[in-house]
Amino acid sequence: MAKKKGDSIKDLMFQPKSGWLQLKDKEMDEVLKYNEDYKSFLDIAKTERLASTEIMRQAEAAGFVNIEKLVKTGQKLKAGTKILVNNKDKSIGLFIIGKKPLEEGMRLVGAHIDSPRLDFKPNPIYEDGHIALGKTHYYGGVKKYQWTTLPLAIHGVLYKKDGEKVTLAIGDKPEDPVFCVTDLLIHLSKAQMQKTMAEGVTGEMMNVVLGNIPVNDEEEGKAVKLGVLELLKERYGVVEEDFLMAEIEVVPAGNARDLGLDRSMVLAYGQDDRVCAYATLNAILQVKDPEYTACGLFMDKEEIGSYGNTGMDSYFLENTIHELVALEGEHSSLKVRRAMKNSKVLSADVTAAFDPDFPDVMEKQNTCYLGFGVAVSKYGGSGGKGGSNDANAEFLSELRTVFADNDVVWQMGELGKVDAGGGGTIAFLLSRYGMEVVDCGTPVLNMHSPYELSSKVDNYMTMKAYRAFMK
Ligand code: MN
Ligand code: MN
Repeated sequence: MAKKKGDSIKDLMFQPKSGWLQLKDKEMDEVLKYNEDYKSFLDIAKTERLASTEIMRQAEAAGFVNIEKLVKTGQKLKAGTKILVNNKDKSIGLFIIGKKPLEEGMRLVGAHIDSPRLDFKPNPIYEDGHIALGKTHYYGGVKKYQWTTLPLAIHGVLYKKDGEKVTLAIGDKPEDPVFCVTDLLIHLSKAQMQKTMAEGVTGEMMNVVLGNIPVNDEEEGKAVKLGVLELLKERYGVVEEDFLMAEIEVVPAGNARDLGLDRSMVLAYGQDDRVCAYATLNAILQVKDPEYTACGLFMDKEEIGSYGNTGMDSYFLENTIHELVALEGEHSSLKVRRAMKNSKVLSADVTAAFDPDFPDVMEKQNTCYLGFGVAVSKYGGSGGKGGSNDANAEFLSELRTVFADNDVVWQMGELGKVDAGGGGTIAFLLSRYGMEVVDCGTPVLNMHSPYELSSKVDNYMTMKAYRAFMK
């Protein structure tokens, strides 16, 4: 209907408003409580393995049953059955069977639980300058200089010669020692400071300091390394060769913290994408008797392109749907195809929030703002939308209704200016089945840095969006 003269300008003009000003009665308490639980999750789930373990623990406590158990007993699915699928302790799928058959589609929320970090090289330990160090190979997109001079923790697994698994976790308990990548003192940095930020600290400089006490004064160049190896043998029963059969990740040490005088934000490592992963977990644990099968995916390897058998580019989801269709009744590939094609997906990943220090890369009218709710990105990619899944307007329209009906504060934004750069998510890997997919996640500052920054109201609205979508 045409607007009459005198209608409020508010009805004509789109004017986004802070999420903090749109909270309902008592919702402030829920926002704060939610973020306390979220911070605890971040403290526990520092790697994809640790995140998987914690997600499984919470899901099992809520009644999710491992799919292997169902397959073994041949127990058929019924509406409300809760299923957990563990993919090599690195990625997880959670399902709640809906009232409608699988072939009518699912409501998926797909997040990732790997984050940028430093991985130990296969043969990491050496000594130089009477210091023992560990060589690393960075994982994902990092600005290397950001990872120097910070307290770091080590998490991972090694395998001994007899096949016994050893778990390492050093640096996150208050009584633990920490580790560090060094940087040059400013006094001698005349040459370094002339380099570009990409060249000032290089990949081969990302060596983690491990020790300083030599075993004796004879083994020049080896005595300190031997001291570290002795400690590793004594405490964990491992020898140097065992590092060849290991996955050891170096991450910022310490816990998630409140940020700001008003404690409105969270500063923590790994919020890309554990902020969306936790929202997905928390949301699906609240879903009861959904119409369509609800699914939360917690994938690995997103930061390096989603390849590998624990990443979204694998057949993990497809294989799982085959199993579910078989458990539902009669298996047929056509039913699997339909289940996939008729599904709708929120690709749950973070996006960039407007950074007042770097306005040049943001287009103010189409960027996301901290505190303005969960962010929907119609497309990502780079240049002319290259490599992006560009969501359909029809699906966005459906989402608008779902969000409005459930008081979800949300905002629409692009990652940055048209030609400023770009990025991708798992969205395109799901859209190829015919699923309706859109990127929907939390806006953050400092993305991929050791300490990422999010707003508590956005974190909470992310959960609310996923819950409304799956229920
Ligand atoms: Mn991400
Ligand atoms: Mn990322």
